[in-house]
Amino acid sequence: MAETQRTLAIVKPDAVAKGAIGEILRRIEAAGLRPIGLKLVQLSEGQARGFYAVHRERPFYASLVKFMTSGPVVVCALEGEQAIARWRQLMGATDPARADAGSIRKDLGTDVERNAVHGSDAPETARIELAYFFNATEIQGPVEALPG
Ligand code: ATP
Ligand code: MG
Repeated sequence: MAETQRTLAIVKPDAVAKGAIGEILRRIEAAGLRPIGLKLVQLSEGQARGFYAVHRERPFYASLVKFMTSGPVVVCALEGEQAIARWRQLMGATDPARADAGSIRKDLGTDVERNAVHGSDAPETARIELAYFFNATEIQGPVEALPG
């Protein structure tokens, strides 16, 4: 069944540093996903730790937080039919070496950590992650569909 969803996309510091913001937004728009919130932000250590709190026991957590605070990121709220799964499809697998040909991570990622982009993995995490970065006035959409 068709379902309009919202999801959070992040262009990670590696992709921002290599000048790939435009290419990633181009792919998003070409796929028919609509940016409804967009900004460039420098994450603090606390923000990065909080965002990835679910991974706090993983061996890569400290390194991931360091990477995600190493430079600015672009956070983008996306809207569209099945936006969560479609954005993850565009991203490709977590490890660029295993990602499908033509995916963002295959084309622009470096390794399993420096993998160019983030995408929410489910409706509930999308709501939480969108609210983490955007307040109501920063999302352009109908009031009844605001996150949170
Ligand atoms: P994301 O949550 O960023 O969209 P994902 O859902 O594909 O990616 P997760 O398992 O949620 O992957 O991991 C979050 C992020 O942590 C990854 O995108 C990657 O940057 C980093 N990461 C995951 N696994 C590893 C690992 N084995 N070594 C180093 N970094 C990792
Ligand atoms: Mg994830």
